[in-house]
Amino acid sequence: MISVKSTADLAKMRASGKIAGGALKLVGEKIKPGMTTMQVNKLVHDYIVQRGARPSFLNYGGFPASACISVNNELIHGIPTSKRVLREGDIVSVDVGAFKDGFHSDTCMTFPVGKISEEAKKLLEVTQASLYAGIEIAKAGVRLGDISHTIQEYCESRGFSVVRRYCGHGVGRQLHEDPEVPNYGVPGHGTRLVSGMTIAIEPMINAKGEGVKVLENGWTVVTTSGSLSAHFEHTVAITSEGAVILTLP
Ligand code: MG
Repeated sequence: MISVKSTADLAKMRASGKIAGGALKLVGEKIKPGMTTMQVNKLVHDYIVQRGARPSFLNYGGFPASACISVNNELIHGIPTSKRVLREGDIVSVDVGAFKDGFHSDTCMTFPVGKISEEAKKLLEVTQASLYAGIEIAKAGVRLGDISHTIQEYCESRGFSVVRRYCGHGVGRQLHEDPEVPNYGVPGHGTRLVSGMTIAIEPMINAKGEGVKVLENGWTVVTTSGSLSAHFEHTVAITSEGAVILTLP
């Protein structure tokens, strides 16, 4: 069932989203070669907790950290460790959720570590731009398939592959709510958006081939081809005027 949020609910989601977005902004300022993924996780954890919120992902389904940190060919659900040292040229997806006053928010960015390859740079630019292209058309009355198709078309026309196996989702009192928000689809199809819906739009895009698999740790999702993968996400609120991003810092 899709839940529609009140104005008061949306204010609380904006407050939690501001914390999640702020944590990512901090990561963007601090990330550099030589850091471990556990150090990145600590930045996120401390930032969220110091602002009176709780990291949504910590212990969610048993996930053992406050942020999902996925490097290079890892798509999502990477587990931070003190052994994984970031190197110049890596790309690192940091996925963060914050829970405050009864509401979750969910956001992700893929960061370059130092100087990255031209291919990696293009993958990040296209994935992030596809997220904004999807957000741009979202408003009450539009169908989910319109958003999905916009993201798919944007990425595939630039030579990248859209992961089918994972998708965006409603978010609010629960971290994952209805509806699913795929990154591929048919225009004019799917649920019609109404004012007060809150959804996480999150293109997950591979440089080559849509295939992904889960590693033996039961969490980390990697590309089957070994190619790079990028992930950008915002939680947005639907209004009759358009989509309002709730996870800006
Ligand atoms: Mg999400």
